[in-house]
Amino acid sequence: MKTILTGLRANSVFTIGNYLGALLPMVRLANKHVNDCHLNLFVPDLHSMISEIDGGDLQSNILRSIKCYLAAGMPTGKNVHIYRQSRVPAHSELCWILNCIATMGEMNRMTQYKEKSEGKNSVNVGIFDYPVLMAGDILLYSAEYVPVGEDQFQHIELTRNLAMRFNNRYGDIFTIPASTKEQVKFMGLEEGIRIRDLLNPEKKMSKSTVAENSKIMLDDTPERAAKKIMSATTDSLGKIKFDMWGQPGISNLMVIESLVNDIPLQEVIGKWSGETKYGELKKQVAASVSKLLTDFQVRINEISDDQVYELLESGERYANEVANTKLLEVQKAVGLR
Ligand code: ATP
Ligand code: MG
Repeated sequence: MKTILTGLRANSVFTIGNYLGALLPMVRLANKHVNDCHLNLFVPDLHSMISEIDGGDLQSNILRSIKCYLAAGMPTGKNVHIYRQSRVPAHSELCWILNCIATMGEMNRMTQYKEKSEGKNSVNVGIFDYPVLMAGDILLYSAEYVPVGEDQFQHIELTRNLAMRFNNRYGDIFTIPASTKEQVKFMGLEEGIRIRDLLNPEKKMSKSTVAENSKIMLDDTPERAAKKIMSATTDSLGKIKFDMWGQPGISNLMVIESLVNDIPLQEVIGKWSGETKYGELKKQVAASVSKLLTDFQVRINEISDDQVYELLESGERYANEVANTKLLEVQKAVGLR
């Protein structure tokens, strides 16, 4: 049985970018493949530490992030495995072994690292190294499909390269994840999803961006979210056209409208192209997002902590079993056992 795997760093509340780009694609795949694939959903709590976080918030963030998946419609059942990364020590150990085959040159090329370290005097090593930890997260479970947003595609390619290099040196140990092109196809998309920052639409929306109005959080009140959409940066061309380079702000709103309502982007483009009233499009998107948040917030409040802990107990038992088996294979291959 193939494995589909994903995780979202629990360093803060999720944005609508995380929801549309990563959470929803996983939930859709999970519902489609709940009988024929393993579905691994993990909380990368070790990854959370690359951003400055208050340790006191981490546990509640972890619980909330699992509840987000459940509220988004993630199925449960014998093939669904929900676990916390730090409860499976094999992740850290495989990371070290992979560190010793990754090169500084390839790690220096990671754009997420460049973006996250830009303008900072001091950058923690975790920010540089987390793609290797991520490679281990994937390879330990022989996952072929990893639904993530477009910003993480480079890390999937890195994972493939590290796995191929390892296999060339030490034998056929790792399953090579599908290429990003195949991943996109598997998700039923034409291209990867990248929701833009509402104030600076040239950049992607990120939960760690400081400016509150640049991002919609899943716990924003529907009214607040609507206001953020209404004040999103657009352009002064005065005519709606889907053009991510020339009119990224207005194009981003069309992408959001399409994903939130699960209607083809072409349909949204067809409806709005040539219109001149940006405010009308904003009102429509604000209404769609407000409705999404209202429904989502009702659902998340119905999920109890106990429900989550119960899922974690069986998920972590499974994850340790699978990960330790793979780690032992790796340790034997490199001569550690
Ligand atoms: P941070 O600022 O802490 O890095 P983030 O919003 O980039 O937060 P991550 O935890 O790095 O979130 O990524 C979680 C998942 O969400 C990944 O699969 C990532 O590709 C996806 N994702 C993040 N931002 C976007 C976005 N703007 N559009 C689509 N998907 C996104
Ligand atoms: Mg990120």
